[in-house]
Amino acid sequence: MDRRKFLAVTAVAPLAAPSIARAQTSFAWKMTNAYGPGSPFYVEGPGSPKDFCDKVAAMSGGRMTIQHFAAGELIPALEGFDAVRGGAVEMNAANAYFWAGKLPAAQYFTTVPFGMNFQGMTAWLYHGGGMALWDELYEPLGLKALPMGNTGVQMTGWFKKPIESIADFKDLKMRIPGLAGKVYAALGVDVKLLPGGEIFPALERGVIDAAEFVGPYQDRRLGLQKAAKYYYTTGWHEPSNVTELLINQKAWESLPADLQAIVKNAAQACNLDSHSWCEANNAAALRDLVENEGVIAQTLPDDVVNKLKGITNDTLEAEAAKDPLTKKVHDAFMAFRDTHREWAAVSEKPYHGIISSKDGMS
Ligand code: CA
Repeated sequence: MDRRKFLAVTAVAPLAAPSIARAQTSFAWKMTNAYGPGSPFYVEGPGSPKDFCDKVAAMSGGRMTIQHFAAGELIPALEGFDAVRGGAVEMNAANAYFWAGKLPAAQYFTTVPFGMNFQGMTAWLYHGGGMALWDELYEPLGLKALPMGNTGVQMTGWFKKPIESIADFKDLKMRIPGLAGKVYAALGVDVKLLPGGEIFPALERGVIDAAEFVGPYQDRRLGLQKAAKYYYTTGWHEPSNVTELLINQKAWESLPADLQAIVKNAAQACNLDSHSWCEANNAAALRDLVENEGVIAQTLPDDVVNKLKGITNDTLEAEAAKDPLTKKVHDAFMAFRDTHREWAAVSEKPYHGIISSKDGMS
């Protein structure tokens, strides 16, 4: 082939055209967050919302960038729902149970007392009909949500006095969000919904007597061990906890299919990354709290847990009866939970049984 012919052939190579068209379509979005600057898991670190923004930028070759604002940097902690709905920002990171006042059914997409752990919750959302119900709930509001993180099993929380019977909860002032807050209210607890950053000062000053946040690593960072010493397990109230990526539906529909796929896959990657990060860090943090901070870590008495189960059942039934969509989500969640438990009963439960003989806590 002579030089002129070669140049003519290469000049008409059509492959460059689509990439030129793509390069002209870039998206610069904003994401707000219910959690304050520097929070591990909720803002920064592996699988966090900021990590999600970085993943999307990297996977899209910079065609999609998302500027992240922690709580208070653009709007207050719990105003993300309205900000996304109104289009002031395209995305918000939070937990769906913060929107309970607007949408009671949203609580089921964060966590349910005596509900499902990470495996069960993730199975329900991705492969058990959970995502379709979440879409059904949010679509009329012009919203879309994706799971973008999970703490795994949380700790019951921090108490200034030991819990020896169910009556010890009565008249406590406690920070506790979500459906578990309704259960505690039924026990006579004065329930407070405080953002993460406000828990330590409230507990230290005695504005509250008890609080739950997440687990050893994140709780230690807030300094909760300096305000209360009784640290109970297990997370009956939050057997896992889903971080919600909330998206403005119109903005979502404006994305080309490949960027939608990148957003979905980045959120899934964060769901796994954040959970495995928590699993990797909690044990050492708990050991440090017990050995160096004088924390008394223990399980709730069996009798207390059994009574909590009964009150939880009654509370959830009453919540579900309040509106038809909550009832629909409740029934679907419980049906999946009960089926998943059948598998857990022959898989994880016996496995935990054979490895639990050296558990440090009683
Ligand atoms: Ca929590």
